[in-house]
Amino acid sequence: MQLSFTPYYLKLKHLFRVAAGARTTTPIVLTRIEHNGLVGYGEASMPPYLGESIETVVAFLKRVNLAQFSNPLEIDDILDYVDSIDTGNNAAKASVDIALHDLHAKLLSQPLHRLWHLDKGCSPVTSFTIGIDTPEIVRQKVAEAAAFPILKLKLGNTIDKQLVEAVRSATAKPLYVDVNQGWTDRAMALDMAYWLKENGVVLLEQPMPKVQIDDIAWLTAHSPLPIFADEGIRRLDELEQFHGAYSGVNIKLMKSTGLREARKMAIEAKTFGMQTMMGCMTETSCAISAAAVVSLTTDYADLDGALLITNDIFNGVTFNQGRVCLTNSEGIGVTPKEMPLPV
Ligand code: MG
Repeated sequence: MQLSFTPYYLKLKHLFRVAAGARTTTPIVLTRIEHNGLVGYGEASMPPYLGESIETVVAFLKRVNLAQFSNPLEIDDILDYVDSIDTGNNAAKASVDIALHDLHAKLLSQPLHRLWHLDKGCSPVTSFTIGIDTPEIVRQKVAEAAAFPILKLKLGNTIDKQLVEAVRSATAKPLYVDVNQGWTDRAMALDMAYWLKENGVVLLEQPMPKVQIDDIAWLTAHSPLPIFADEGIRRLDELEQFHGAYSGVNIKLMKSTGLREARKMAIEAKTFGMQTMMGCMTETSCAISAAAVVSLTTDYADLDGALLITNDIFNGVTFNQGRVCLTNSEGIGVTPKEMPLPV
C-alpha cells in the first residue's frame, strides 16, 4: 500500500464568522492510498481553532508507513497502528482512515454503506449553516438557502437576538443554533434557551466553553432545548467521560479520527440515551461523502461543508431539498473532478 498526500486550500463563498473568529479559506490535505491499481481517497480539514495545520498534518503523514501492511482489508490493525504513532493529530488520522475505508470497500466492489449494512434511503435532512454576520447579510443568506428546509445559525456575539430575529423575519424553518462556546454565564444561557425555543429553535450546540462542564451539565438539566456537544466531545473517550453533561453530540470525522471511531461514537451515544448529529468542517465532497455514510445512523445531519466552498474537487453525495443522497458507487462514492490530485 502506498500513501501519498498534497495540501490544498478551500475557498469559502462568504467570509465565515463564528464566535472564535472569521476566515475566507480552510487549509486541507488530500490523501490517496493505492493498492493493486485501486485508489482510496481521503482528506484532512483543519479549521484554525482546532490546532492542526498543513504543517502538522504533513509531518504526521510522513511518519505513516503503510508499506509494512500487505492487506488493506486488515483495517483495524492498520488504524490501530496509525493511532499509536502519536497523540492528537485527529484530522491527519482521519485522512488516512477515510482513504483506507474507501479503498477497502473498492477492493470488495461495494459501496461502504452496503458493507456496513446501512440503508441509504434512511438519510437525514442536512441543515444549512449561516455564519455570524450583519442582520442584512443574514437575511440574504437565508434567501440563498431556499433549497434547505433546516437552517443552522451561528451565535455567540453581541447581537445574537437580532440575528435570530433577522432569520425569523425571513423564514419559519426549523433552526439549530451553534454558539461555538461563546457564552460564559449559565443563567444567561438558560434565559436564551427559553427565548430561542419560543423562536422555533430545536437544538442548541456547545453554548458554553467545554471547560465549564459543570455549568453545561446544569444548563442541560434545566434547558427546554437539547444541548449538543461539539468542541466538548471529540473522540470516544470524551464521549464516555462527558456524556452526562449533554443531551446530544455532534460527531465529526475530523474530531473522531475518522469513520471507524465516528461509527462507534454514534452507536455508543445512543446507548447513553443521547441524540446524535453527523457534522463536518468545511470539506470537499470527499470527506462529506464519507460522513454521509455515518449519517445513516444518526438523528440529525449537518453536512453542508462542501456547499460553502467554491473549489470542491470531488463529485460525491448530492442534496435533494436538503436530504443527503448517497450513490451506489463503490467505496465512499467519490470521483475526483479536477486534477492535480496527489501523486
Ligand atoms: Mg459546532
